[in-house]
Amino acid sequence: MRRRGGRAILSEQPRLSYRYLKVLETIIQSIGKNENSWFEPEINDSLPRGFTYPQISDVEEIIGAESIVDILEELRNRNLLEGKFHSKILYCPSCGSFKLRPSTACRNCGSQNIQKKSSFMHTCGAVLSVEIYGKGGLCPKCGDPLRPDSMIEYKPVYVCEDCGELFEEPKPVSICQSCGALSNLTEVKELILNKYKPTELAFRFFEKRVTPETFAKTLMIRGARVEMNVSLKGRSGLNHKIDIVAVSPDANDVKLYFIIPFLSVREVLRIATISMDFKDVKVHGREPKIIIVSNSLEPGSKELADSLGLTVITLEGVGTPG
Ligand SMILES: [Zn+2]
Ligand SMILES: [Zn+2]
Ligand SMILES: [Zn+2]
Repeated sequence: MRRRGGRAILSEQPRLSYRYLKVLETIIQSIGKNENSWFEPEINDSLPRGFTYPQISDVEEIIGAESIVDILEELRNRNLLEGKFHSKILYCPSCGSFKLRPSTACRNCGSQNIQKKSSFMHTCGAVLSVEIYGKGGLCPKCGDPLRPDSMIEYKPVYVCEDCGELFEEPKPVSICQSCGALSNLTEVKELILNKYKPTELAFRFFEKRVTPETFAKTLMIRGARVEMNVSLKGRSGLNHKIDIVAVSPDANDVKLYFIIPFLSVREVLRIATISMDFKDVKVHGREPKIIIVSNSLEPGSKELADSLGLTVITLEGVGTPG
């Protein structure tokens, strides 16, 4: 979905999906509220597409380098990011490679076999290469003899060795180093890379995500005894950081909460591992139940959590900016 340039103001903002939220989260966390810092692309020939947004390289793994640009532009269209021009990447129109080499070609026949030579102008206005003048004879334009007193030195020109055309400015072309295609610069595909920073709306929107603090308050209102940011030892002897340990008012129920606003498949696997390590381990005298609290789920993560026996609670709040 490419909507570059279009700044449509939507009265009904559709919900943002996991991928958009994940990118926005990463930008907000890496840039913060610093007025002067921008989220910038890195241009690097050794990368598959010639660029990356280094701070979202993790997310890029899930999403792919190309659609990152679409996602960033969509967030900009939604007024969650401010964007400014940073740089441009040119791509071969035949194979899509960014490895292009600039060259010059004949304006008439397209041959690259052109040479810069000194030239002379005849009194009739004809511009002649040094070779034609050197041969003597008659002017190809007016037919008068070419004599030293009827010629003045002119600026250097390009002469095509293939078709003989003479021109002052060669045609700029690019040669693809991957497929060898020669293209006019006007045919080459361009990708504009912007730098970004979150808008006020993005920060306000982002504050609506679930945090250990806000969720702990909800639990306390319901009468639970709550500890936050607890390190607990599992069966293996390893310590695990638990966002919230909650004991029910009757002390019969112990729950370990993981607060993950944007839940990925990878995080489900991480928590499943921790969950296994708490099998038959008692916390406050009870075997704890593991619960993940989230605002938005990567496709597939809920299904995976279900199949691994993990409970996921999805909260409203983040998903619709504004
Ligand atoms: Zn190519
Ligand atoms: Zn030519
Ligand atoms: Zn002439």
